[in-house]
Amino acid sequence: METEHRDFFPCDNSYARLPARFYAKLPPVRVAAPRLVRLNEDLARQLGLDPAALSTTDGVAALSGNRVPQRCEPLAMAYAGHQFGMFVPQLGDGRALLLGEVIDRDGVRRDIQLKGSGRTPFSRGGDGRATLGPVLREYIVSEAMAALGIPTTRSLAAVTTGETVARVRPLPGAVLTRVASSHVRVGTFQFFAARGDVEATRRLADYVIARHYPNAAGAENPYLALLGLVCVRQAELIAKWMLIGFIHGVMNTDNVSIAGETIDYGPCAFMDAYHPDTVFSSIDHGGRYAYGNQPRVAQWNLARLAETLLPLIAEDKATAIESAQEALTIFAARFDAAYIDGIRRKLGLLRPEPGDISLADDLLKRMAANGADFTLTFRGLCETASGVPAHETARLQFADPTVFDEWAVRWRERLAREATEPAERRAVMRSANPAFIPRNHLVEEVIDAAQDKGNFAPFETLLAVLAKPYEDFPEFARYAAAPRPDQVVHQTFCGT
Ligand code: AMP
Ligand code: MG
Repeated sequence: METEHRDFFPCDNSYARLPARFYAKLPPVRVAAPRLVRLNEDLARQLGLDPAALSTTDGVAALSGNRVPQRCEPLAMAYAGHQFGMFVPQLGDGRALLLGEVIDRDGVRRDIQLKGSGRTPFSRGGDGRATLGPVLREYIVSEAMAALGIPTTRSLAAVTTGETVARVRPLPGAVLTRVASSHVRVGTFQFFAARGDVEATRRLADYVIARHYPNAAGAENPYLALLGLVCVRQAELIAKWMLIGFIHGVMNTDNVSIAGETIDYGPCAFMDAYHPDTVFSSIDHGGRYAYGNQPRVAQWNLARLAETLLPLIAEDKATAIESAQEALTIFAARFDAAYIDGIRRKLGLLRPEPGDISLADDLLKRMAANGADFTLTFRGLCETASGVPAHETARLQFADPTVFDEWAVRWRERLAREATEPAERRAVMRSANPAFIPRNHLVEEVIDAAQDKGNFAPFETLLAVLAKPYEDFPEFARYAAAPRPDQVVHQTFCGT
């Protein structure tokens, strides 16, 4: 392995300084013919990196794993996890490597990870590779989430490898460069707790406190404070998913970021027609990770985190359990608060009233019964609320529009009690109800063009539209529309 002498990533690698049992250090596996598909230049600059340098042949060699830039110390992180409720004591980065950490322009430490960089000691039966489809999907959806204002890992670059990867059929190989606040997961804590390695659990907790939750350090019980703060970030994150119609698809504990970012985009999807039971993931047979189950699952995952922290919280087990259970209750309180605040904004109800939740629930119930498109209904309400009488987008989402009309009578009565100016209300509603989300049929269309025809123009156009999800682009109306019946995607796949 050659070491590239240019400083593409001016890294300072705090994770590599943790004890050796936290990871396996190894270089990426070379690929045949790397080609840059896309570099996220804005993000590169935000990270203090030079987009021009990253676009050169040497830069692309770094982004594909063919050269390890100076100051990078590639490593595969160890973690465990509950997958669909079953505990797996060893997972780990089987097809990814942490290259190192950079300090961004705001002084925040960010991980730079290659995904699809070859086999590691954690690969088990896998080939360590990623294919172009899932790489483009993660790029599109993570960048859309960021533009929507939802905490998420980011995509810095996508490259094709010039190699074919064996899946159900041979597919083009690709590598994604992913950026995260960190890649520490609930499953990272579980890895050490399952081995009874209290010392490592404590080291990890101290690391996480220093990096993500410095306020916990001064608390009377820092580890209990840490648990509470992780719960708060998860509660706020899941509320944002619910308010935008996002379904993660694989909320296993190894896919839950301790920093509270959406991570590991696999068979994720945005709902078209609203229904709480919606599931897209081809591997989620029981609907464990259905849209409406997400808050409950998040709490279950946090309870697994709490278990790993018990020995740190108190010496006496009963005391530790009692304190942890008490700390976990903050999830429900903070989720409800964030969700209620968000749904009020979506409906233009800016001065809280006690009946608001039942008004919102009633709308959702009617939407579910009438196959109403989640995004178009709420976006349509922005115009309906500003009194454009001919504006029918929202009501026309309902199989029976009179079902919407009945609800709208009560909503208008409620709006009449609002003192807010219509213009202000419209602005708030438009900032809570996007026009553009990465709809499944659009993502599939982009992947098909890239994979089958080598045409990346549709990928670029979709990214440009999704970068400004709250604006209206009449020329891109097609991207806001719900799928026609023949375009509806019913299942999404991990593609691993
Ligand atoms: P994920 O589906 O991304 O949450 O991955 C679950 C686990 O499977 C992680 O330990 C991954 O590293 C591993 N994994 C997924 N795909 C591959 C692959 N192609 N090769 C090796 N390991 C993989
Ligand atoms: Mg994962």
